[in-house]
Amino acid sequence: MRVPFIAGNWKMNKTPKEAEQLAGDVRRLVASIRNVEIAIAPAMACLAHVVRRVDDSNVKVAAQNVYWEAQGAYTGEVSVAMLKDVGCSHIIIGHSERRAYFGETDATVAKKVRATLDQGLVPIMCVGETLEEREAGKTLEVVFRQLLGGLEAVQNEDAAQVVVAYEPVWAIGTGRTASPEQAQEVHQALRGKLVERFGAAIAQAIRIQYGGSVTPANARELLSQPDIDGALVGGASLKAEGFLEIIRAAQP
Ligand code: PEP
Repeated sequence: MRVPFIAGNWKMNKTPKEAEQLAGDVRRLVASIRNVEIAIAPAMACLAHVVRRVDDSNVKVAAQNVYWEAQGAYTGEVSVAMLKDVGCSHIIIGHSERRAYFGETDATVAKKVRATLDQGLVPIMCVGETLEEREAGKTLEVVFRQLLGGLEAVQNEDAAQVVVAYEPVWAIGTGRTASPEQAQEVHQALRGKLVERFGAAIAQAIRIQYGGSVTPANARELLSQPDIDGALVGGASLKAEGFLEIIRAAQP
């Protein structure tokens, strides 16, 4: 049984003080939640504040990016070991905003995923097609390429640690969600690819989150699909009450 996993991607929102407040609210509201894994991903500058606020609770902390090298002359970058030391357990990798604005490619995603696993942290690896690609009938071609490219350096022994997030680019921050059937179709196809790559047992253990305008209103239907194992939530994770409702919708 895959434990549902709901993660909130706060993107470049909230100052450290505001992030601390929101993290405290999330912690209080979700304290009694069982059987759902929960993470919040504040901006780099807020990580230490948020870790302090959710310490010793059922709320985990994710970073939104990382660099693959261990240390050195890479001005502005942050290593996996630094994120681990600050208290992160998860790292979002290859988000479509990073691919679109910061030159992230399948090759850089693969290095980041490998470096993350090497330190025992969990990569949340994002894949997803643009509207143009969907309309050209290329959805599966694109997400398969991103999936296999990003997982290139992952072996069977640590594959089950990986979380995949299917995030159609046209649904991110647009208010336009994939229908549960559209999302399930891609999730099922992704799992099929994972079966080919790692075998059925490992593929059945890998969580595949859906992301793209998930709200309290649409979460239950999406999360009831057999291959949707959670959600990566952007905008709706910035309000603790709404985030709680989405988490509740994921409860088995
Ligand atoms: C995201 O950025 O991962 C995301 C899914 O954003 P939103 O929920 O706002 O569409």
